Amino acid sequence: MDFKVTPWDVEGLVDYDKLIVEFGTTPLTNELLEKTKELTKSELPLYFRRKFFFSHRDYNLVLKDYEEGKGFFLYTGRGPSGPMHIGHIIPFFATKWLQEKFGVNLYVQITDDEKFLFKPKLTFEETKRWAYENILDIIAVGFDPDKTFIFQDSEFTKIYEMAIPIAKKVNYSMAKAVFGFTDQSKIGMIFYPAIQAAPTFFEKRRSLIPAAIDQDPYWRIQRDFAESLGYYKAAAIHSKFVPGLMGVEGKMSASKPETAIYLTDTPEEAGKKIWKYALTGGQPTLKEQREKGGNPDKCVVFKWLEIFFESDDKALIERYHACKGGELLCGQCKRYLIERVQNFLREHQKRREKAKEEIEKFKYTGEL
Ligand code: SF4
Repeated sequence: MDFKVTPWDVEGLVDYDKLIVEFGTTPLTNELLEKTKELTKSELPLYFRRKFFFSHRDYNLVLKDYEEGKGFFLYTGRGPSGPMHIGHIIPFFATKWLQEKFGVNLYVQITDDEKFLFKPKLTFEETKRWAYENILDIIAVGFDPDKTFIFQDSEFTKIYEMAIPIAKKVNYSMAKAVFGFTDQSKIGMIFYPAIQAAPTFFEKRRSLIPAAIDQDPYWRIQRDFAESLGYYKAAAIHSKFVPGLMGVEGKMSASKPETAIYLTDTPEEAGKKIWKYALTGGQPTLKEQREKGGNPDKCVVFKWLEIFFESDDKALIERYHACKGGELLCGQCKRYLIERVQNFLREHQKRREKAKEEIEKFKYTGEL
């Protein structure tokens, strides 16, 4: 296989159909998307209609539970080890759509303990500071404060009570198979999978986890034992990766600042990065571009428009054909994308400022 996907690493040009087979997940079919439209009485947002979310586990059962009145809840999270970038926030927008349309609760786990334990150089103070910064970005997405519960593992100590029965079910070899522990792994790391699985038990109904597909292995453990504890197996819908600026392979990485647009970048900084670094599928010369056309399938600018920044399907398809037909130049596309990204950042940063006053409304204390 010429690509690799693990919770820690994504390399190469991912073949998502092969990944479904390798991970043993199920394609998110048009039938399920139609059912989603029917139940929510809404048009699908671009992340679903363009199959940025492409795979699932038990999403069919989530819809069935909803239809039968049992309901479900959403669970997602964030490991606070640095600033969030555009690739991190897109799944949160999809989560917000699901919350709004299905009217369900959402729990957001901020895994400050995990990042402290797994990142050797990160201090506890740093991870707590990033937790605060990241929570502002998450609130800025626009979640419903009455149905959204955000908690930091180190503060929300009630989670320990829920993690204990889980820790009694998972043996070391199961956790090692997923997390790759060695003799040198710290003991806190070995207990951590129990903490991560605990929120799937916050309510006695099915949890749905919207996340990038590389996170899927974490939930395989939960699915192995959940029913034996009287709970539901966690369901999930999986997204593809948002590529970094330097190419359509791999994913945007916070450890390579030139590949990412951070949510706290000024619009000017973001514009400069896109102009300088975004890899296009254009030809080396203007003449060749006119004669041969470009390759939007290998173009980061096109991918970003497709994934998030161009909501108009017709305009996107026209751009695709204009690129292939040599009618479009990369500079024009980059300028268009820059304007979209800058507008997004301006709005996001305004909401982020406002979030500072709202943070208490979102804090989960264990009471609904
Ligand atoms: Fe990409 Fe636009 Fe260049 Fe085509 S013309 S390769 S879509 S930037």
